[in-house]
Amino acid sequence: MSKKFPSKSLLCSITGHKYRVSKEITEHVKEYTCCKCNKKMTSTIYGQLLPLNDRYSRLNRALSSLQQAKVLKESYS
Ligand SMILES: [Zn+2]
Repeated sequence: MSKKFPSKSLLCSITGHKYRVSKEITEHVKEYTCCKCNKKMTSTIYGQLLPLNDRYSRLNRALSSLQQAKVLKESYS
């Protein structure tokens, strides 16, 4: 775990977060990390952008394995 820098998240609250895609779950669902304060967000299947918590992290992993199973099935059929 990295140390928290309150000044960085304070900067983000003024200038806004700078999100980069950290993980591509599906075509539409992606996880984002702020490269300034490391805050994590996720887009959902409904197109919302929400803070990435344990629940969404689990959902995304399930979605990711579902997606991989689907891709495998399609490439073998
Ligand atoms: Zn930030």
